[in-house]
Amino acid sequence: MAIDPSDAKALLDVQKKSYFNGAICLFCGLLFHCLVSGTLIVPFVVSQLLLVGIFLGMGLRVGEGWLSPTRAGVIGGLLGLMSATSFVHWSGGPFSPYIHFFGALPFMLALFSPDSGVPTLVSGGASLVAVLVVSVMAGMPPRMLALQSFSSVVLLSLALFGTRVYRRALDAHREAHQARLQALEQLAESERLRGRAERERAEVERLVLVGQLAAGVAHEVNNPLAFVKANLNFLEHEADDEARPLDRAELKSLLQETQQGVLRIQQIVMDLKDFSRAGHMGEEERGELGEALREAGRLASVRMGAGCDVSLELTPELPAVRLGQRHIVQVMVNLLLNAVDAVEQARPERCAHITVRARREERGVCVQVDDNGPGIPPDVLPRLFEPFFTTKPPGKGTGLGLALCREYVARAGGSLHAENRAEGGARFVLMLPLA
Ligand code: ADP
Repeated sequence: MAIDPSDAKALLDVQKKSYFNGAICLFCGLLFHCLVSGTLIVPFVVSQLLLVGIFLGMGLRVGEGWLSPTRAGVIGGLLGLMSATSFVHWSGGPFSPYIHFFGALPFMLALFSPDSGVPTLVSGGASLVAVLVVSVMAGMPPRMLALQSFSSVVLLSLALFGTRVYRRALDAHREAHQARLQALEQLAESERLRGRAERERAEVERLVLVGQLAAGVAHEVNNPLAFVKANLNFLEHEADDEARPLDRAELKSLLQETQQGVLRIQQIVMDLKDFSRAGHMGEEERGELGEALREAGRLASVRMGAGCDVSLELTPELPAVRLGQRHIVQVMVNLLLNAVDAVEQARPERCAHITVRARREERGVCVQVDDNGPGIPPDVLPRLFEPFFTTKPPGKGTGLGLALCREYVARAGGSLHAENRAEGGARFVLMLPLA
């Protein structure tokens, strides 16, 4: 199984520490042996001190150049074997108190190279051979030799089995780590896809609103256009009629009226352009409520017939709120168009009168939208904010408007809820925290 770079570094650190610890143990063991046995065999002491030096050197250089971790593991095993053999040899051969060092060698090797079984296997085989050589050299009787070999094989098998278990545990740990990483990656990917789907949903809903406004826009633009055109025709006619004296006051009032008409058209087109502009969620975190409510009122009024109105009752100097301008406009246009639809659906001959009130409260700004429609039926009220819930005919409602409004508002730390007014009609209450 492939090892990831952070695992490889951690293993290398473990190996380095094992070599340093090995050097310390060897030095202390040597000191202990000399003190307790009261002997000082110079070749033995010199060879062990040399091995201590090599262990320290390997601890410093393992992982660099040709000294790869696996190679260092094999070398460490062979050095360990040399050290164990020399301990056994200088302290009584097969009858040495250190004879079991050979059995422990594969375990030691597993510490030097925990990620590979090769060094353990090599040193295991080599230590078995060493036991036999030492025993034969000491002239051990054949029967004893057989028993000695048998016990060594059992010990080595256990040691190999132990190292195998150790490596399997290491592999299982790595696999679990990999699985965790993969799960995290999948989670991040699904979060990304969810974010994208959400943005697309918001985009679709805004375009649906733009579509709903489009017919009204044409009508609203046509009205001022008609009197602008009529005024221009009149002015042209007046200019042609040289006999008639120019009435400056009349001319000025005509020009003012024409100018207002052009400004109204410009305002409608600008509002619609702003509103339909594609954008990203969360791009702004602050909005001027007064301006946003006026823009939403202007946009919604293009869908309303003569006699209908949106009246704004805003306390002066409303503070900025923690929701982007475009989202406030989107939420408000949604609420206003829903109110217009509710009135039209219930009694087409009736005019919609919508009142938007905004006031500062302790927790933020409260916006209240009241209409003179039929109100919300009790069975609809609990489902109002469910995505795709609509009572409008197919092609007219998506059922996403209120769900998205609540989502935007909740994300900004605010709230949106609906109720029926005692005097009739529906009321939507929007709470927005301060920016
Ligand atoms: P859509 O407008 O596409 O139906 P919404 O989520 O905006 O989706 O609205 C869901 C439903 O809530 C509407 O279909 C309507 O039944 C109800 N509703 C919304 N506003 C009002 C209101 N002012 N008066 C009565 N019913 C309303």
